[in-house]
Amino acid sequence: MSKILVIEDETKIARFVELELKHEGYEVQTAFDGRSGLAQYESWQPDLLILDLMLPELSGIEVCRRLRQQSDIPIIMLTAKDDVSDKVMGLDMGADDYMTKPFAIEELLARIRVCLKKHRVDRGEPHGTLTAGKLKLTPASYSVTYGDEPVALTKKEFDLLHYLWQHEHAAVSRDDLLSNVWGYDFAGDTNIVDVYIRYLRQKIDDRYGVKTIHTIRAVGYMFRYEP
Ligand code: CA
Repeated sequence: MSKILVIEDETKIARFVELELKHEGYEVQTAFDGRSGLAQYESWQPDLLILDLMLPELSGIEVCRRLRQQSDIPIIMLTAKDDVSDKVMGLDMGADDYMTKPFAIEELLARIRVCLKKHRVDRGEPHGTLTAGKLKLTPASYSVTYGDEPVALTKKEFDLLHYLWQHEHAAVSRDDLLSNVWGYDFAGDTNIVDVYIRYLRQKIDDRYGVKTIHTIRAVGYMFRYEP
């Protein structure tokens, strides 16, 4: 499910939008100023941004400008009524769409769907593609890339990464991994999982200086991307 970051200093609006989006099944995080919004973008890697223009610390315009230097994430701006110059500036800075406050939540939801869909089509990404930072996994072609560089994985390494990634932010047990990735019972020998986790870490985490696979003590592993 898509992850949406809401950066809005009016807590009432932020909470309202957060609740409605969660109700629609999106994963949602909120930030109340521009600077922490940017930090949350970096650490959480959302799929879409809802960005108020009038923000403390860093303005929405500035957040938009900085993000566009590194990302093509869809951005929907929230603007105060009649703030035409801000609206124009936001669109110039690369925002995809805007909503004028107060707005109907149904309209925001519709625009979110359009933005997300358009973004996928623009990228030409087949269904099921997973992205986190520069890391991308495409099930249709069994490929993983970091930026423009292909990451050479064996089929088993790919399946393991894919399974963990599909359960992003959840601790997955070794037994679970064995039965779902290897597909049969290894008679209690879960060492094989640890061995393959080590291969993945060498090929991704160590090589690119990121953290993707976390050890969850006494349980197993969790996929969570950290730049
Ligand atoms: Ca504001």
